[in-house]
Amino acid sequence: MDKKITRRELGKLGAGALMAGGAILLGRPVRADSHGKITDYPDQAPVATAVQYKEKSELEGKTCENCMLFTAGEGGRGKCTLFMKGTVAAAGHCTSWAAKP
Ligand code: SF4
Repeated sequence: MDKKITRRELGKLGAGALMAGGAILLGRPVRADSHGKITDYPDQAPVATAVQYKEKSELEGKTCENCMLFTAGEGGRGKCTLFMKGTVAAAGHCTSWAAKP
C-alpha cells in the first residue's frame, strides 16, 4: 500500500507547482490597474498632489509624452514611473517633468 515517490515524480510535481504558481501570478489583474487613469486610484492621489499632476499641460512643449518617465500606451495615455497604478495622459504634466534624452 505504501508507495514511495521517485525523484522523477517529485521533479514533475515541482515543475507543475512552478507552472501553476506562474499562471496564478500572470493571471493577477495587474493589467486592469494600468488602464484606468491615476485619478481612478485614490491611493495614488498623494503622489499626484505632491507633483501637481494635471491631465492637460499648461506649459508649451512640456507634456508627459515627451517626459523621460513616460512610456506610451493606448488611447493617448501611458505609464509614468512615479505612479504604481493607472495611467497618465500623454498631454498631461507634473512638476517632475524631465525632458527625454
Ligand atoms: S513625471 Fe513626467 S510622465 Fe510622469 S506625470 Fe510627470 S510629466 Fe507626466
